[in-house]
Amino acid sequence: MHSSVARRVQRVKPSPTLAVTARAARLKAEGKDVIGLGAGEPDFDTPTHIGNAGIEAIRSGFTRYTNVDGIDELKDAIIAKFARDNQLEYERAQILVSSGAKQTIYNLCMAVLDPGDEAVIPAPYWVSYPDMVLLADAQPVMPFAGPSQGYKINPRQLAAAITPQTRLVLLNSPCNPTGAAYSRAELRALGEVLIEHPRIVIGTDDMYEKIFWGAEPFCSLLTAVPELYGRTVTINGCSKVYAMTGWRIGYCGGPKEIITAMATIQGQSTSNACSISQKAATAALAGDQACVATMNRAFKERHDFVVAGLNDLPGVSCLPGAGTFYAFADVSKAIAGLGCRDDNEFAELLLNVGGIAVVPGSGFGAPGHIRISFACGLPTLAKALERMLRVLTTPAVAKTG
Ligand code: GLU
Repeated sequence: MHSSVARRVQRVKPSPTLAVTARAARLKAEGKDVIGLGAGEPDFDTPTHIGNAGIEAIRSGFTRYTNVDGIDELKDAIIAKFARDNQLEYERAQILVSSGAKQTIYNLCMAVLDPGDEAVIPAPYWVSYPDMVLLADAQPVMPFAGPSQGYKINPRQLAAAITPQTRLVLLNSPCNPTGAAYSRAELRALGEVLIEHPRIVIGTDDMYEKIFWGAEPFCSLLTAVPELYGRTVTINGCSKVYAMTGWRIGYCGGPKEIITAMATIQGQSTSNACSISQKAATAALAGDQACVATMNRAFKERHDFVVAGLNDLPGVSCLPGAGTFYAFADVSKAIAGLGCRDDNEFAELLLNVGGIAVVPGSGFGAPGHIRISFACGLPTLAKALERMLRVLTTPAVAKTG
C-alpha cells in the first residue's frame, strides 16, 4: 500500500459483502450467467406509498439541508416505533438519524472507543463490525459460537471476553449472517453479565427485527434488560424492512450524551441523511405496515426452501434461522471433498464453475461456511441449488475451475 495512506486504512479490508455484490454485477454486465446470492438487499421495490413520499419531498422543494440529527417528524415516527415495537421511551434528543445503520454503528464506534480500548463482537458477525472498531483505533475481541451452540454465545463466553479495556459490546439479533436470534431469556442472561460492567456501552443492531419467524416474538436487548437503558444504543433502519437499501436511512435511540457525541461526529463528516429519504422514511415508519408482513411471508417461504435444499446437498449442512434473509451453511465437508483450500477458494469455485456468487464465511469470522442471501425469487434459488449440486458432484469439473 502507498506510504501516504494512513496506518488505520492498512488495518482494514474492503467490505466482502459489497465486494462480492460488485463482482457479480460486473460479471453479469460482461454477459456471464451469474446468480447473485451475495447482496444483502431485498429484491422487492420500495412500497409505493413510501416512494411517493420521496417524490412529494422533491416536488415540494424539501431538498435542502436538515438538522444534522434528523427532522422532527421522522424522529417522532422513530420514537413511536420504539414505543410500539420495543416498549422503549425516548425523546427527540435521544434519537439520531444517519445515512444507513452502517453509519450509525460507525458513529457509535467513533464516539465511544479510544486507542487501546476493546470491543466485544460475537462471531459470526456482520463483516463491517471489526473493521469499524479498527478504524476507531480500538481492538475487536471476537468470542466464537459455532453451529453446536446455534451460533449464539453464552454468558460464560461473554464474561471471558470482557477485560478492563472493554468499552463496547456489539450485539446483533437476528444475526447477519446466521439468522440466529437470542431469546428473551438468553438476552437476560447476557445482560446480567453486562450489568456487572458499568463502563461498557452496548450497541444492539436490530436491523432484522421485522424479518423474523422465531418461535418466540422478537425481543430487543433493553426489553429483556431494562437496567442497561442508560448505556445501550438501540440501532435499526429502513433498508431491510421496507426494501429501502438505496435510500440510506438508519437510526438509533440511546443515552443523550452518546447520541450527542455521535451527532457531532456526523455533523463533522456527512451532516444530515438525505432530506428526501427522511420524508420517505417517515412515511415508512408512520404509515401502513402491511408491506412488512407481505415481504416477511416471502422471506420465510424462501428460507424454508433454501435451508431444506442446502441440507440435501452433499457435504453441506445449514441450521434454520429465526430471521434475516441469509442462510449460513457449514460447507467444511464439501470444501474437503473438493480439495479446496478454504471457504474463499470454495466460493471462487462456485462462482467460476457454477456461476453462483456467495460470500465466504471467513469474512464473518466463520471459516468453513458460506452466506447465501435468499433475497431473490424461488425459481432463482432452485436454479442456484441445482448448480451447487452440479459443482459438488462433479469434482473433476470443479478442479479445472
Ligand atoms: N448489510 C448488507 C450485507 O450484509 C449490505 C452490504 C453491506 O453493507 O455490507 O450484505
